[in-house]
Amino acid sequence: MIRDYHSPERVEDALALLARGAVAVGGATALYTAKSSRDIELVDVTRLGLDQITVDKDKVVIGAGVTLSRLGAAADIPGMPGALLRKAARAVASEPLRNMITVAGNVAGLNYWADLPPVLLALDATVEVRKQGQAPSAHPIAACLEAGKHPWEGGMIAAVTVPLTQAAQVFGYERFVRTVTDYSLATACVTMTRDGALMRNVHLVIGALQARPHRAAKAEAKLEGKAYDAAAVDEAIATLGDLPVAPNFRASPGYRRQLAGVLSRRALMTAYEWARES
Ligand SMILES: Cc1cc2nc3c(=O)[nH]c(=O)nc-3n(C[C@H](O)[C@H](O)[C@H](O)COP(=O)(O)OP(=O)(O)OC[C@H]3O[C@@H](n4cnc5c(N)ncnc54)[C@H](O)[C@@H]3O)c2cc1C
Repeated sequence: MIRDYHSPERVEDALALLARGAVAVGGATALYTAKSSRDIELVDVTRLGLDQITVDKDKVVIGAGVTLSRLGAAADIPGMPGALLRKAARAVASEPLRNMITVAGNVAGLNYWADLPPVLLALDATVEVRKQGQAPSAHPIAACLEAGKHPWEGGMIAAVTVPLTQAAQVFGYERFVRTVTDYSLATACVTMTRDGALMRNVHLVIGALQARPHRAAKAEAKLEGKAYDAAAVDEAIATLGDLPVAPNFRASPGYRRQLAGVLSRRALMTAYEWARES
């Protein structure tokens, strides 16, 4: 039950409320599906001015309150990170929902199907946390996605930062849904840097299979520093055969594991084709 609702305009006021146990709310889309019977006090964080996207030379800072619609239209974010973030944001649910869902809510909700966390993991993003009486702190998204780690507890996510580089980066992004507004059955996101014909800094993130997205380290190791060819990709995909899959009602674990392999192969091909053409 919602005991109280606040909509502060100053970050300090929001932090004071959060420090005493109030719960942050962004787009509030998770309220529809929340099963909690806990008596809660809500702090709406969408009027704090944290809805800007700031592009610097070496990073883009995406405010907590940026909606997925805004992110999906953010033509000012350059290069591969911009193209990947726009593609992933536009893939989520429906336009009315994208108008409400915020970047911070999609991350902090920690839903296994959430579409931004796998992409932010592939992009080595960091999460900026604010807490009352403390200096802002930055946490690698990989650490935030570890079980039981929620660095924003008692405070809030203020922004997500994605590094930008001059390197020739490419991506492939595949997500399988039965209907356009369904949650993903499996997601594969690949980022890499082109070094002539070689694949460098390969990140292969699998989403929607387990409670949190994760990097497929064994597959990445099979690809790192190699030229793209069928044998290298086959070897990498074979390592996904023993991925643990959390059961859900959408499809069997075996099907979703196989799907993850198919989508990873497609994402790798897309990334590499892009690398060859660019
Ligand atoms: C029908 C439907 C379909 C959907 N389909 C998809 C989909 O396919 N893919 C997808 O990714 N998402 C999908 N979503 C959205 C997803 O399930 C969540 O509802 C959404 O990500 C929550 O974002 P929000 O901004 O509305 O957050 P809220 O609902 O406001 O909050 C969600 C959680 O984040 C916390 N939170 C919010 N803001 C902050 C902050 N600044 N700092 C710290 N904690 C914060 C809240 O306390 C809460 O725990 C769907 C939602 C619905 C209703």
